Amino acid sequence: MARSIVERQDVAPRSPRASVVTTAVSAAICLLVFFQCGLNGEVRADALSKLKPAKLAAIQESLQALRAARRELPLRGPGGEYCANLHVHSAWSHDSRGTIDEIVAAARRAGTQVLMFNEHPADHYDYLQQGHRGIRDGVLLIPGAETQGFLLFPTLSTARMTFAAPQDLADFVRSRGGQAFVSHLEERMDWKVRGVTGVEIYNTHADFKDEQGLVAALKNPFKIFQLSEAFRAFPQEAYSALLDYPRDYLRKWDALCQQAPHTGVSANDAHQNIGLIVRWTGPDRARLEDALGQPLLELDLANLPGAEKLLEGRKVGDTLFELILDRYEFALRHVATHLRMSELTEAAVREALDQGRAFVAFDWMVDARGFDFAAEADGRRWEMGSQPRLPTASDPPANRHAGLSLSAVAPLSTHWKLFRDGQIEEESDGDTLRYRVTQPGVYRCEAWLDVAGQPTIWILSNPIYVRAADP
Ligand SMILES: [Zn+2]
Repeated sequence: MARSIVERQDVAPRSPRASVVTTAVSAAICLLVFFQCGLNGEVRADALSKLKPAKLAAIQESLQALRAARRELPLRGPGGEYCANLHVHSAWSHDSRGTIDEIVAAARRAGTQVLMFNEHPADHYDYLQQGHRGIRDGVLLIPGAETQGFLLFPTLSTARMTFAAPQDLADFVRSRGGQAFVSHLEERMDWKVRGVTGVEIYNTHADFKDEQGLVAALKNPFKIFQLSEAFRAFPQEAYSALLDYPRDYLRKWDALCQQAPHTGVSANDAHQNIGLIVRWTGPDRARLEDALGQPLLELDLANLPGAEKLLEGRKVGDTLFELILDRYEFALRHVATHLRMSELTEAAVREALDQGRAFVAFDWMVDARGFDFAAEADGRRWEMGSQPRLPTASDPPANRHAGLSLSAVAPLSTHWKLFRDGQIEEESDGDTLRYRVTQPGVYRCEAWLDVAGQPTIWILSNPIYVRAADP
């Protein structure tokens, strides 16, 4: 079901009283940690310039104006459009505690319809046999693994099999009708693998890793508390502040597409495992835990100014404070792989991914549904991932006159970049792009938005592979 962006972005309003209490609680916890850790109070926030409330407010305001200008587009071409999140981890993975109920609920709030899990395999379970599968609350679940450098969506379990090399594993999965994507490209830029379905062209965790200031801050409980107000007031803007244009990923992808079609997908790499929890453990004791419940520090409540306020109405065992920075809802809304397919089934998802009928969009800014990129000639249409041939003199006269053109449309006026073989071929502004094709090549387009004065990547199409006319 199509839902408006207003619903997708909804964040429960806070009452002024709740705000005062949470601020008081986090201030109290800050003081507590300050005293217990013996920190000297010298905290620099300048490395985290994107997470300043004034900046986040400006981004929010800018996005609200863009969303107001968005219009619904009729879907072009055959089939429907479904938003998928790939590379999702649940409690099956050692580094996540996410239950299927909370992940599905988050997907519904984020407006995506397909959850593709890539669990870390382990001996105690079979990620394919026991993994999440089928429709749940209208969301399609597909099990898979993150292993040996791939996102895998096999059709047969590989749990008890060993493979000499990653290539053999990918070949096995592909030969049985499964999909294999190269994951975390930043760790394997020199990889040479053949015959994969495609590659991650964006990975949230990779994008996060290069945020040096933020990464350093998150190792320090004191600084996490400092960030709490920004994450409370602007949860999506704060989460998505990590977004950078994935230049290196795209360069690698463009090179791979010169050899063979590679479907580009986005990887949410969602774990919900960054944050802090304070739990009341005894009359005078509390415990600081990480987002996975691992103890970090024992706290003495006697040293906490205003402890009574914090404990009011609570009992031993209760959570006194919780701040999770990468909640599933915000991680899933950040980016999605939009699939063009006619029904919400696992077979249709696999087929769309195999064919490259997909695009990647940072829907947290503006809902990208309705975007389209296709080749056209003489009333015929070729979808993303297809391989049209340039017309020749031997074609029927109608084709020769029509030629081949590329067209793209977005639900909002945008800045277009059209790429041919990895190089910018043309840039333009508007809600549509049109281009007459005269040379063969791998064509893909990008749509950019101006967000609070910053050009920001919004949509990445999959390529159309235009082949030379037959000799
Ligand atoms: Zn992962």
